[in-house]
Amino acid sequence: MKKKDELYRGKTKTLYRTDNPQLLVLEFRDDISALDGKRVEQFNRKGMINNKLNYFIMSILQKFGIPTQIEELISPNATVVKKLKMFPLECVVRNRAAGSLVKRLGLDEGLPLNPPIFELFLKDDLQHDPMVNTSYCKALKIIDTDSLSQIRRLTHQINQCLSHLFFEKDLILVDFKLEFGLFQNKVVLGDELSPDSTRLWDRVTFRKMDKDIYRQNQLGLIEAYENVASRLGVRLD
Ligand code: UDP
Repeated sequence: MKKKDELYRGKTKTLYRTDNPQLLVLEFRDDISALDGKRVEQFNRKGMINNKLNYFIMSILQKFGIPTQIEELISPNATVVKKLKMFPLECVVRNRAAGSLVKRLGLDEGLPLNPPIFELFLKDDLQHDPMVNTSYCKALKIIDTDSLSQIRRLTHQINQCLSHLFFEKDLILVDFKLEFGLFQNKVVLGDELSPDSTRLWDRVTFRKMDKDIYRQNQLGLIEAYENVASRLGVRLD
């Protein structure tokens, strides 16, 4: 599959057209960003690690019957994916309190949330991705009711599958963000699943193994991502 011209450049990934109008090449760069993209840096190997982790995690979800955009891992940094018509939403699931939830409600970090919390954010950098709910989605016609209920169902299944997968590797899935789109009128998981979009803590020490290391100006980001890959049995070379 040949990579053609650039279709879209995001904060950490670039999408390229291919010969096939239904497929794109998703390339993971070494960039990392925080504060709505105001802070950007590069970490050697990060693009490769996240590409391989994303491919591995999405392949597992596929096996569990979750439709995902991935097609083929074509290079250390790139995967062929289906071209989705993305919904402008970020779907967050929280199994424990962390990040913005701790700040907003003043909860103790790590507080277990049972049942997990499901949140929706409108993808809009200018407005800093404001939180929305079902009623906003209906009134502002952000997404149709049927697709939203499918997203809720899929998100719940993904959480069950991944919580179990990580727990077996002594990792706690604290929270994560998903983005969905339509492919041939079907709701499909897009974007990425990696330690950039997922909070993972060591089950015993509660050590952070994700992008919070960067957000909190700590050292050892790549070592932590490599540790996650090694626990999952993902070969990096
Ligand atoms: N998240 C993300 N992209 C965003 C915002 C959040 O991938 O633009 C992920 C984040 O890594 C975490 C979860 O969604 O796993 C919940 O993030 P939160 O709302 O706590 O915001 P944050 O603390 O990341 O600003």
